[in-house]
Amino acid sequence: MPRVGIIGTGFGGVAVASELLRHGYRDVVLWERAEAVGGVWRDNRYPGAACDVPSPFYSFSFAPWDAWPRRYAPQPAILDYLRAVADREGVTQRTRLRAVVVAAHWSGTAWDVTFADGSVETVDVLVSAVGQLSTPAIPSLPGTDSFTGAQFHTAQWPSGFDASGRRIAVIGSAATAVQLVPALARAGADVTLLQRSANYIWPKPDGAYPRWYRRFARGERGFFRWLGEQFSRQLEPDSIYARIGGAVTRAHLRLRVRDRALRDQLTPDYPIGCKRILFSNDFYPALQLPNVSLETTGIARIVPEGIELVDGRVIEADTLVWATGFAAQSFLHGITVTADGRELHAEWDAAGGARAMLGLYPAGFPSLAIAYGPNTNLGGSSILLMLEAQARHLRLVLDETVKRAATAFTASGAGEEQWDAEVQTALGDSAWASCGNWYRDPASGRITSNWPGGPNAYVRRVRELDAATFAFEV
Ligand code: NAP
Repeated sequence: MPRVGIIGTGFGGVAVASELLRHGYRDVVLWERAEAVGGVWRDNRYPGAACDVPSPFYSFSFAPWDAWPRRYAPQPAILDYLRAVADREGVTQRTRLRAVVVAAHWSGTAWDVTFADGSVETVDVLVSAVGQLSTPAIPSLPGTDSFTGAQFHTAQWPSGFDASGRRIAVIGSAATAVQLVPALARAGADVTLLQRSANYIWPKPDGAYPRWYRRFARGERGFFRWLGEQFSRQLEPDSIYARIGGAVTRAHLRLRVRDRALRDQLTPDYPIGCKRILFSNDFYPALQLPNVSLETTGIARIVPEGIELVDGRVIEADTLVWATGFAAQSFLHGITVTADGRELHAEWDAAGGARAMLGLYPAGFPSLAIAYGPNTNLGGSSILLMLEAQARHLRLVLDETVKRAATAFTASGAGEEQWDAEVQTALGDSAWASCGNWYRDPASGRITSNWPGGPNAYVRRVRELDAATFAFEV
Protein backbone atom coordinates (compact mmCIF):
# COMPACT_ATOMS: atom_id res chain seq x y z
CA MET A 1 0.00 0.00 0.00
CA PRO A 2 1.41 3.44 -0.90
CA ARG A 3 2.29 5.99 1.73
CA VAL A 4 0.20 9.09 1.02
CA GLY A 5 1.04 12.61 2.24
CA ILE A 6 -1.66 15.27 2.23
CA ILE A 7 -0.89 18.99 2.64
CA GLY A 8 -3.68 20.79 4.48
CA THR A 9 -6.48 19.79 6.84
CA GLY A 10 -9.42 21.84 5.63
CA PHE A 11 -12.43 20.24 4.00
CA GLY A 12 -10.21 19.11 1.08
CA GLY A 13 -7.64 17.31 3.21
CA VAL A 14 -10.31 15.71 5.38
CA ALA A 15 -12.28 14.58 2.30
CA VAL A 16 -9.26 12.90 0.70
CA ALA A 17 -7.95 11.34 3.92
CA SER A 18 -11.39 10.00 4.89
CA GLU A 19 -11.92 8.41 1.48
CA LEU A 20 -8.52 6.72 1.55
CA LEU A 21 -8.81 5.53 5.15
CA ARG A 22 -12.28 4.15 4.50
CA HIS A 23 -10.91 2.11 1.60
CA GLY A 24 -7.99 0.47 3.33
CA TYR A 25 -5.23 3.00 2.66
CA ARG A 26 -4.00 3.26 6.21
CA ASP A 27 -0.56 4.78 5.61
CA VAL A 28 -1.76 8.36 5.38
CA VAL A 29 -0.09 11.41 6.89
CA LEU A 30 -1.39 15.00 6.84
CA TRP A 31 0.65 18.17 7.33
CA GLU A 32 -0.98 21.28 8.71
CA ARG A 33 0.88 24.59 8.86
CA ALA A 34 -1.24 25.90 11.76
CA GLU A 35 -1.79 24.87 15.37
CA ALA A 36 -4.94 22.86 14.70
CA VAL A 37 -6.89 21.25 11.87
CA GLY A 38 -9.58 23.26 10.08
CA GLY A 39 -8.32 25.14 7.00
CA VAL A 40 -10.19 28.28 6.01
CA TRP A 41 -12.84 27.63 8.63
CA ARG A 42 -10.17 27.84 11.32
CA ASP A 43 -8.65 31.00 9.84
CA ASN A 44 -11.75 33.03 8.97
CA ARG A 45 -12.93 34.05 12.44
CA TYR A 46 -14.04 37.55 11.54
CA PRO A 47 -17.32 38.73 13.12
CA GLY A 48 -20.29 37.44 11.12
CA ALA A 49 -18.34 34.64 9.38
CA ALA A 50 -20.75 31.99 8.18
CA CYS A 51 -21.33 29.80 5.19
CA ASP A 52 -23.48 30.99 2.32
CA VAL A 53 -24.39 27.40 1.40
CA PRO A 54 -27.00 25.64 3.61
CA SER A 55 -25.28 23.43 6.18
CA PRO A 56 -27.13 20.15 5.54
CA PHE A 57 -25.67 20.50 2.05
CA TYR A 58 -22.33 22.03 3.06
CA SER A 59 -21.38 18.83 4.88
CA PHE A 60 -20.03 15.46 3.79
CA SER A 61 -22.48 12.90 2.39
CA PHE A 62 -20.78 10.28 4.58
CA ALA A 63 -21.09 12.37 7.75
CA PRO A 64 -24.54 13.88 8.20
CA TRP A 65 -24.85 16.10 11.26
CA ASP A 66 -27.72 16.84 13.60
CA ALA A 67 -26.21 19.78 15.43
CA TRP A 68 -26.57 22.62 12.92
CA PRO A 69 -27.97 25.54 14.92
CA ARG A 70 -29.36 27.18 11.80
CA ARG A 71 -29.62 26.64 8.04
CA TYR A 72 -26.55 28.78 7.30
CA ALA A 73 -24.30 27.75 10.17
CA PRO A 74 -21.88 30.27 11.65
CA GLN A 75 -18.12 29.63 11.41
CA PRO A 76 -17.68 28.08 14.90
CA ALA A 77 -20.34 25.43 14.15
CA ILE A 78 -18.72 24.58 10.80
CA LEU A 79 -15.31 24.26 12.43
CA ASP A 80 -16.76 22.04 15.17
CA TYR A 81 -18.27 19.82 12.49
CA LEU A 82 -15.07 19.56 10.46
CA ARG A 83 -13.03 18.71 13.55
CA ALA A 84 -15.57 16.13 14.71
CA VAL A 85 -15.39 14.40 11.31
CA ALA A 86 -11.58 14.60 11.30
CA ASP A 87 -11.47 12.97 14.76
CA ARG A 88 -13.99 10.30 13.90
CA GLU A 89 -12.35 9.34 10.60
CA GLY A 90 -8.87 9.10 12.11
CA VAL A 91 -7.60 12.19 10.31
CA THR A 92 -6.64 14.29 13.34
CA GLN A 93 -4.54 11.44 14.73
CA ARG A 94 -2.53 11.31 11.49
CA THR A 95 -1.90 15.04 11.32
CA ARG A 96 1.44 16.68 12.06
CA LEU A 97 0.73 20.26 13.17
CA ARG A 98 2.93 23.33 12.61
CA ALA A 99 4.35 21.56 9.56
CA VAL A 100 4.88 24.16 6.82
CA VAL A 101 5.62 22.51 3.48
CA VAL A 102 7.97 24.62 1.35
CA ALA A 103 9.07 22.17 -1.36
CA ALA A 104 8.34 18.78 -2.86
CA HIS A 105 10.76 16.98 -5.12
CA TRP A 106 10.10 13.77 -7.06
CA SER A 107 13.25 11.73 -6.62
CA GLY A 108 12.35 9.26 -9.36
CA THR A 109 10.57 6.86 -7.04
CA ALA A 110 8.94 9.02 -4.35
CA TRP A 111 8.21 12.57 -3.18
CA ASP A 112 10.70 14.17 -0.79
CA VAL A 113 8.72 16.80 1.04
CA THR A 114 10.70 19.60 2.71
CA PHE A 115 9.37 21.67 5.60
CA ALA A 116 10.20 25.19 6.75
CA ASP A 117 12.20 23.80 9.69
CA GLY A 118 14.44 21.91 7.25
CA SER A 119 13.05 18.45 7.98
CA VAL A 120 12.18 16.11 5.09
CA GLU A 121 9.57 13.35 4.82
CA THR A 122 9.17 10.88 1.97
CA VAL A 123 5.86 9.66 0.59
CA ASP A 124 4.83 7.66 -2.48
CA VAL A 125 1.86 9.85 -3.35
CA LEU A 126 1.52 13.58 -2.68
CA VAL A 127 -1.82 15.38 -2.43
CA SER A 128 -2.14 19.13 -2.17
CA ALA A 129 -5.28 20.14 -0.30
CA VAL A 130 -4.24 23.72 0.40
CA GLY A 131 -7.30 25.07 -1.41
CA GLN A 132 -7.76 28.17 -3.50
CA LEU A 133 -8.63 30.62 -0.73
CA SER A 134 -5.99 30.06 1.93
CA THR A 135 -3.48 32.84 1.17
CA PRO A 136 -4.73 36.34 2.09
CA ALA A 137 -4.27 38.99 -0.61
CA ILE A 138 -3.62 42.60 0.40
CA PRO A 139 -3.29 45.07 -2.49
CA SER A 140 -0.16 47.17 -2.50
CA LEU A 141 -1.63 50.65 -2.06
CA PRO A 142 0.80 53.49 -1.49
CA GLY A 143 1.32 54.48 2.13
CA THR A 144 0.01 51.26 3.67
CA ASP A 145 2.84 51.13 6.20
CA SER A 146 2.29 54.72 7.27
CA PHE A 147 -1.08 53.97 8.87
CA THR A 148 -0.86 54.53 12.62
CA GLY A 149 -3.83 52.40 13.71
CA ALA A 150 -4.38 48.64 13.63
CA GLN A 151 -4.66 46.89 10.27
CA PHE A 152 -5.28 43.28 9.37
CA HIS A 153 -6.84 40.95 6.77
CA THR A 154 -10.19 39.34 7.51
CA ALA A 155 -8.56 35.89 7.54
CA GLN A 156 -6.12 37.06 10.23
CA TRP A 157 -8.63 38.47 12.66
CA PRO A 158 -6.98 39.27 16.02
CA SER A 159 -8.47 37.26 18.86
CA GLY A 160 -10.17 39.37 21.49
CA PHE A 161 -10.60 42.34 19.13
CA ASP A 162 -13.30 44.63 20.52
CA ALA A 163 -14.99 46.56 17.71
CA SER A 164 -17.15 48.68 19.95
CA GLY A 165 -16.42 52.40 19.73
CA ARG A 166 -13.81 51.96 16.98
CA ARG A 167 -13.71 53.77 13.66
CA ILE A 168 -13.19 50.97 11.19
CA ALA A 169 -12.56 51.28 7.45
CA VAL A 170 -13.32 48.07 5.57
CA ILE A 171 -11.62 47.84 2.16
CA GLY A 172 -13.32 45.43 -0.22
CA SER A 173 -17.00 44.68 -0.57
CA ALA A 174 -17.70 41.08 -1.53
CA ALA A 175 -18.60 37.75 0.14
CA THR A 176 -16.58 38.46 3.27
CA ALA A 177 -17.50 42.14 3.66
CA VAL A 178 -21.27 41.56 3.40
CA GLN A 179 -21.00 39.32 6.46
CA LEU A 180 -18.50 41.45 8.33
CA VAL A 181 -19.98 44.95 8.00
CA PRO A 182 -23.37 44.17 9.63
CA ALA A 183 -21.60 42.33 12.46
CA LEU A 184 -19.23 45.26 13.11
CA ALA A 185 -22.18 47.66 13.05
CA ARG A 186 -24.04 45.50 15.60
CA ALA A 187 -20.93 45.46 17.77
CA GLY A 188 -21.07 49.27 17.98
CA ALA A 189 -18.29 50.23 15.57
CA ASP A 190 -18.40 53.27 13.32
CA VAL A 191 -17.87 51.62 9.92
CA THR A 192 -16.96 52.97 6.49
CA LEU A 193 -17.14 50.42 3.70
CA LEU A 194 -14.93 51.22 0.72
CA GLN A 195 -16.54 49.54 -2.25
CA ARG A 196 -14.92 49.31 -5.69
CA SER A 197 -17.58 47.07 -7.30
CA ALA A 198 -21.19 46.49 -6.31
CA ASN A 199 -22.62 42.97 -6.04
CA TYR A 200 -25.72 41.03 -6.99
CA ILE A 201 -27.20 39.96 -3.66
CA TRP A 202 -29.93 37.41 -3.10
CA PRO A 203 -31.90 37.32 0.16
CA LYS A 204 -30.75 34.39 2.30
CA PRO A 205 -33.41 31.83 3.28
CA ASP A 206 -31.80 31.55 6.69
CA GLY A 207 -33.29 30.70 10.07
CA ALA A 208 -32.54 28.94 13.33
CA TYR A 209 -33.32 25.22 13.40
CA PRO A 210 -35.54 24.39 16.37
CA ARG A 211 -33.98 21.53 18.34
CA TRP A 212 -36.77 19.12 17.35
CA TYR A 213 -36.19 19.84 13.66
CA ARG A 214 -32.42 19.34 13.54
CA ARG A 215 -32.61 15.61 12.78
CA PHE A 216 -34.99 16.33 9.90
CA ALA A 217 -32.80 19.13 8.55
CA ARG A 218 -30.69 16.41 6.91
CA GLY A 219 -33.59 15.98 4.53
CA GLU A 220 -32.93 19.46 3.12
CA ARG A 221 -29.72 18.20 1.51
CA GLY A 222 -31.39 16.79 -1.58
CA PHE A 223 -33.51 19.87 -2.10
CA PHE A 224 -30.56 22.25 -1.82
CA ARG A 225 -28.49 20.06 -4.11
CA TRP A 226 -31.18 20.44 -6.74
CA LEU A 227 -31.49 24.16 -6.03
CA GLY A 228 -27.70 24.66 -6.19
CA GLU A 229 -27.66 23.07 -9.61
CA GLN A 230 -30.38 25.48 -10.81
CA PHE A 231 -28.63 28.40 -9.12
CA SER A 232 -25.44 27.66 -11.05
CA ARG A 233 -27.36 28.17 -14.27
CA GLN A 234 -27.62 31.91 -13.56
CA LEU A 235 -24.04 31.87 -14.80
CA GLU A 236 -25.18 31.03 -18.32
CA PRO A 237 -25.21 34.49 -19.93
CA ASP A 238 -28.60 35.67 -21.24
CA SER A 239 -30.32 32.50 -20.02
CA ILE A 240 -33.71 32.56 -18.36
CA TYR A 241 -31.89 31.70 -15.11
CA ALA A 242 -29.64 34.76 -15.47
CA ARG A 243 -32.71 36.92 -16.10
CA ILE A 244 -34.49 35.50 -13.03
CA GLY A 245 -31.35 36.06 -10.93
CA GLY A 246 -31.09 39.63 -12.18
CA ALA A 247 -34.77 40.30 -11.44
CA VAL A 248 -34.65 38.81 -7.94
CA THR A 249 -31.50 40.67 -6.92
CA ARG A 250 -32.78 43.97 -8.35
CA ALA A 251 -36.09 43.54 -6.50
CA HIS A 252 -34.17 42.69 -3.31
CA LEU A 253 -32.16 45.91 -3.62
CA ARG A 254 -35.22 48.01 -4.38
CA LEU A 255 -37.17 46.62 -1.44
CA ARG A 256 -34.36 46.98 1.03
CA VAL A 257 -32.91 50.33 -0.06
CA ARG A 258 -35.40 53.14 -0.57
CA ASP A 259 -32.80 55.84 -1.17
CA ARG A 260 -32.21 56.21 -4.89
CA ALA A 261 -28.63 57.47 -4.66
CA LEU A 262 -27.59 54.65 -2.36
CA ARG A 263 -29.34 52.15 -4.61
CA ASP A 264 -27.38 53.46 -7.59
CA GLN A 265 -24.14 52.96 -5.69
CA LEU A 266 -25.16 49.39 -4.95
CA THR A 267 -26.12 48.51 -8.50
CA PRO A 268 -23.53 46.34 -10.29
CA ASP A 269 -22.20 47.50 -13.67
CA TYR A 270 -21.34 44.03 -15.00
CA PRO A 271 -23.46 41.00 -15.99
CA ILE A 272 -24.83 38.80 -13.21
CA GLY A 273 -22.56 35.92 -12.24
CA CYS A 274 -19.31 37.50 -13.36
CA LYS A 275 -18.35 38.05 -9.74
CA ARG A 276 -19.67 35.72 -7.06
CA ILE A 277 -23.41 36.16 -6.45
CA LEU A 278 -23.89 36.86 -2.75
CA PHE A 279 -26.52 36.10 -0.13
CA SER A 280 -27.39 38.44 2.71
CA ASN A 281 -30.38 39.68 4.67
CA ASP A 282 -28.57 42.21 6.81
CA PHE A 283 -26.07 43.92 4.48
CA TYR A 284 -28.46 46.43 2.88
CA PRO A 285 -30.12 47.32 6.22
CA ALA A 286 -26.68 47.74 7.83
CA LEU A 287 -25.62 50.28 5.20
CA GLN A 288 -28.54 52.47 6.26
CA LEU A 289 -27.60 52.57 9.94
CA PRO A 290 -26.30 55.88 11.31
CA ASN A 291 -22.96 54.31 12.24
CA VAL A 292 -22.29 52.88 8.75
CA SER A 293 -21.33 54.67 5.53
CA LEU A 294 -20.66 53.45 2.04
CA GLU A 295 -17.86 55.07 0.06
CA THR A 296 -17.50 54.37 -3.63
CA THR A 297 -14.91 57.00 -4.54
CA GLY A 298 -11.59 55.35 -5.40
CA ILE A 299 -8.72 55.07 -2.94
CA ALA A 300 -5.67 57.22 -3.68
CA ARG A 301 -3.45 56.10 -0.82
CA ILE A 302 -3.31 55.12 2.80
CA VAL A 303 -2.28 57.95 5.11
CA PRO A 304 -1.33 57.86 8.82
CA GLU A 305 -4.86 58.81 9.92
CA GLY A 306 -6.85 56.74 7.45
CA ILE A 307 -7.59 56.53 3.73
CA GLU A 308 -7.19 59.34 1.24
CA LEU A 309 -9.63 59.15 -1.67
CA VAL A 310 -8.93 60.24 -5.23
CA ASP A 311 -11.06 63.36 -4.69
CA GLY A 312 -8.78 64.41 -1.82
CA ARG A 313 -11.12 63.57 1.07
CA VAL A 314 -9.71 61.54 3.94
CA ILE A 315 -11.69 58.77 5.66
CA GLU A 316 -10.36 58.82 9.21
CA ALA A 317 -10.05 55.48 10.91
CA ASP A 318 -8.29 53.77 13.79
CA THR A 319 -8.59 50.32 12.20
CA LEU A 320 -8.17 49.19 8.58
CA VAL A 321 -9.66 45.84 7.65
CA TRP A 322 -8.59 44.29 4.39
CA ALA A 323 -11.59 42.34 3.07
CA THR A 324 -9.72 42.01 -0.20
CA GLY A 325 -9.84 38.27 -0.75
CA PHE A 326 -7.17 35.72 -1.50
CA ALA A 327 -4.32 34.90 -3.86
CA ALA A 328 -6.60 32.39 -5.52
CA GLN A 329 -4.57 32.15 -8.71
CA SER A 330 -1.47 31.17 -6.83
CA PHE A 331 -2.20 27.44 -6.59
CA LEU A 332 0.08 25.59 -4.13
CA HIS A 333 1.26 28.97 -2.93
CA GLY A 334 4.71 28.92 -1.32
CA ILE A 335 5.52 25.34 -2.36
CA THR A 336 8.18 24.62 -4.99
CA VAL A 337 7.23 21.42 -6.81
CA THR A 338 9.89 19.78 -8.96
CA ALA A 339 10.08 16.56 -10.95
CA ASP A 340 12.49 15.49 -13.68
CA GLY A 341 14.00 18.96 -13.93
CA ARG A 342 10.62 20.67 -14.26
CA GLU A 343 8.99 23.10 -11.83
CA LEU A 344 5.22 23.18 -11.64
CA HIS A 345 4.74 26.94 -11.20
CA ALA A 346 7.22 27.79 -13.97
CA GLU A 347 5.27 25.51 -16.31
CA TRP A 348 1.98 27.04 -15.31
CA ASP A 349 3.33 30.58 -15.73
CA ALA A 350 4.62 29.72 -19.19
CA ALA A 351 1.22 28.27 -20.09
CA GLY A 352 -0.76 31.33 -18.93
CA GLY A 353 -2.01 29.86 -15.66
CA ALA A 354 -2.61 26.69 -13.69
CA ARG A 355 -4.07 23.58 -15.30
CA ALA A 356 -4.41 19.92 -14.39
CA MET A 357 -6.20 16.97 -15.94
CA LEU A 358 -9.68 16.74 -14.36
CA GLY A 359 -8.58 19.69 -12.24
CA LEU A 360 -6.67 17.11 -10.21
CA TYR A 361 -3.53 15.77 -11.88
CA PRO A 362 -0.84 18.04 -13.43
CA ALA A 363 0.53 16.19 -16.47
CA GLY A 364 4.02 14.80 -16.16
CA PHE A 365 4.24 15.14 -12.36
CA PRO A 366 4.16 11.57 -11.04
CA SER A 367 1.79 10.56 -8.25
CA LEU A 368 0.68 14.13 -7.55
CA ALA A 369 -2.93 15.21 -7.05
CA ILE A 370 -4.49 18.58 -6.21
CA ALA A 371 -7.81 18.65 -4.36
CA TYR A 372 -9.83 21.79 -5.28
CA GLY A 373 -7.29 22.27 -8.05
CA PRO A 374 -7.46 24.42 -11.19
CA ASN A 375 -10.94 24.80 -12.71
CA THR A 376 -12.83 23.04 -9.94
CA ASN A 377 -14.31 26.00 -8.08
CA LEU A 378 -18.07 26.56 -8.34
CA GLY A 379 -20.07 29.74 -8.86
CA GLY A 380 -22.89 28.32 -6.73
CA SER A 381 -23.67 25.07 -4.85
CA SER A 382 -21.48 23.16 -2.39
CA ILE A 383 -17.77 22.72 -3.03
CA LEU A 384 -17.91 19.61 -0.87
CA LEU A 385 -19.60 17.76 -3.73
CA MET A 386 -16.52 18.47 -5.84
CA LEU A 387 -14.11 17.48 -3.07
CA GLU A 388 -15.82 14.16 -2.43
CA ALA A 389 -15.85 13.36 -6.16
CA GLN A 390 -12.16 14.21 -6.42
CA ALA A 391 -11.24 12.15 -3.37
CA ARG A 392 -13.09 9.19 -4.85
CA HIS A 393 -11.37 9.58 -8.22
CA LEU A 394 -7.94 9.68 -6.60
CA ARG A 395 -8.81 6.52 -4.69
CA LEU A 396 -9.76 4.84 -7.99
CA VAL A 397 -6.37 5.85 -9.42
CA LEU A 398 -4.62 4.38 -6.37
CA ASP A 399 -6.68 1.18 -6.67
CA GLU A 400 -5.53 0.87 -10.27
CA THR A 401 -1.92 1.59 -9.32
CA VAL A 402 -2.01 -1.14 -6.68
CA LYS A 403 -3.80 -3.58 -9.00
CA ARG A 404 -1.06 -3.14 -11.60
CA ALA A 405 1.65 -3.40 -8.94
CA ALA A 406 2.82 -0.03 -10.27
CA THR A 407 5.10 2.30 -8.34
CA ALA A 408 3.66 5.56 -9.69
CA PHE A 409 0.89 7.05 -11.84
CA THR A 410 1.28 10.06 -14.12
CA ALA A 411 -1.39 12.01 -15.99
CA SER A 412 -0.62 12.15 -19.69
CA GLY A 413 0.08 15.41 -21.53
CA ALA A 414 -2.56 14.53 -24.11
CA GLY A 415 -5.13 13.88 -21.39
CA GLU A 416 -4.44 17.24 -19.76
CA GLU A 417 -4.48 19.09 -23.08
CA GLN A 418 -7.81 17.61 -24.10
CA TRP A 419 -9.33 18.39 -20.71
CA ASP A 420 -7.98 21.92 -20.70
CA ALA A 421 -9.19 22.68 -24.21
CA GLU A 422 -12.67 21.43 -23.34
CA VAL A 423 -12.88 23.43 -20.13
CA GLN A 424 -11.44 26.63 -21.61
CA THR A 425 -13.78 26.48 -24.60
CA ALA A 426 -16.78 26.24 -22.29
CA LEU A 427 -15.42 29.04 -20.11
CA GLY A 428 -14.96 31.36 -23.07
CA ASP A 429 -18.74 31.87 -23.17
CA SER A 430 -19.22 32.02 -19.43
CA ALA A 431 -20.30 35.00 -17.34
CA TRP A 432 -16.85 35.03 -15.71
CA ALA A 433 -15.22 36.14 -18.96
CA SER A 434 -17.12 39.45 -18.89
CA CYS A 435 -15.41 41.33 -16.04
CA GLY A 436 -12.49 41.28 -13.61
CA ASN A 437 -12.74 38.68 -10.84
CA TRP A 438 -10.59 36.37 -8.72
CA TYR A 439 -11.28 33.44 -11.04
CA ARG A 440 -8.87 34.75 -13.68
CA ASP A 441 -5.11 34.65 -13.91
CA PRO A 442 -4.04 38.29 -13.41
CA ALA A 443 -1.38 38.12 -16.14
CA SER A 444 -3.13 36.15 -18.88
CA GLY A 445 -6.81 36.68 -18.04
CA ARG A 446 -7.35 32.91 -18.38
CA ILE A 447 -10.07 31.56 -16.05
CA THR A 448 -8.18 29.05 -13.94
CA SER A 449 -10.37 28.76 -10.84
CA ASN A 450 -13.76 27.73 -12.07
CA TRP A 451 -15.45 24.67 -13.45
CA PRO A 452 -17.77 25.73 -16.27
CA GLY A 453 -20.97 24.16 -15.01
CA GLY A 454 -22.86 22.77 -12.06
CA PRO A 455 -21.36 20.17 -9.75
CA ASN A 456 -23.39 17.27 -11.17
CA ALA A 457 -21.61 17.48 -14.52
CA TYR A 458 -18.22 17.34 -12.80
CA VAL A 459 -19.25 14.50 -10.50
CA ARG A 460 -20.39 12.50 -13.55
CA ARG A 461 -17.16 13.33 -15.34
CA VAL A 462 -14.92 11.89 -12.62
CA ARG A 463 -17.11 8.96 -11.64
CA GLU A 464 -15.17 6.44 -13.78
CA LEU A 465 -11.43 6.09 -14.13
CA ASP A 466 -10.11 6.36 -17.68
CA ALA A 467 -6.87 4.47 -17.13
CA ALA A 468 -5.71 5.25 -20.68
CA THR A 469 -5.10 8.88 -19.68
CA PHE A 470 -2.47 7.79 -17.14
CA ALA A 471 0.91 6.12 -17.41
CA PHE A 472 1.51 3.54 -14.68
CA GLU A 473 5.15 2.94 -13.80
CA VAL A 474 5.94 -0.70 -13.10
P1 NAP B 1 -13.17 38.72 -3.01
O1 NAP B 1 -14.41 38.09 -3.48
O2 NAP B 1 -11.93 38.48 -3.76
O3 NAP B 1 -13.45 40.27 -2.86
C1 NAP B 1 -12.42 41.17 -2.65
C2 NAP B 1 -13.00 42.55 -2.52
O4 NAP B 1 -11.91 43.45 -2.35
C3 NAP B 1 -13.76 42.99 -3.78
O5 NAP B 1 -14.81 43.81 -3.39
C4 NAP B 1 -12.69 43.76 -4.54
O6 NAP B 1 -13.21 44.69 -5.44
C5 NAP B 1 -11.99 44.45 -3.39
N1 NAP B 1 -10.65 44.87 -3.73
C6 NAP B 1 -9.60 44.09 -4.07
N2 NAP B 1 -8.52 44.85 -4.32
C7 NAP B 1 -8.90 46.14 -4.13
C8 NAP B 1 -8.25 47.38 -4.24
N3 NAP B 1 -6.97 47.49 -4.62
N4 NAP B 1 -8.96 48.51 -3.97
C9 NAP B 1 -10.24 48.43 -3.60
N5 NAP B 1 -10.93 47.27 -3.49
C10 NAP B 1 -10.25 46.14 -3.74
O7 NAP B 1 -12.84 38.31 -1.48
P2 NAP B 1 -13.79 37.76 -0.32
O8 NAP B 1 -14.96 38.62 -0.13
O9 NAP B 1 -12.93 37.50 0.86
O10 NAP B 1 -14.33 36.40 -0.89
C11 NAP B 1 -13.46 35.48 -1.53
C12 NAP B 1 -14.18 34.17 -1.72
O11 NAP B 1 -14.18 33.50 -0.46
C13 NAP B 1 -15.63 34.26 -2.12
O12 NAP B 1 -15.85 34.48 -3.47
C14 NAP B 1 -16.13 32.92 -1.65
O13 NAP B 1 -15.82 31.92 -2.56
C15 NAP B 1 -15.34 32.72 -0.38
N6 NAP B 1 -16.14 33.16 0.79
C16 NAP B 1 -17.18 32.37 1.11
C17 NAP B 1 -17.97 32.73 2.15
C18 NAP B 1 -19.11 31.85 2.50
O14 NAP B 1 -20.06 32.31 3.01
N7 NAP B 1 -19.06 30.55 2.21
C19 NAP B 1 -17.73 33.88 2.87
C20 NAP B 1 -16.65 34.66 2.52
C21 NAP B 1 -15.85 34.30 1.46
P3 NAP B 1 -13.48 44.30 -6.98
O15 NAP B 1 -14.66 43.37 -6.99
O16 NAP B 1 -13.70 45.57 -7.66
O17 NAP B 1 -12.22 43.60 -7.45
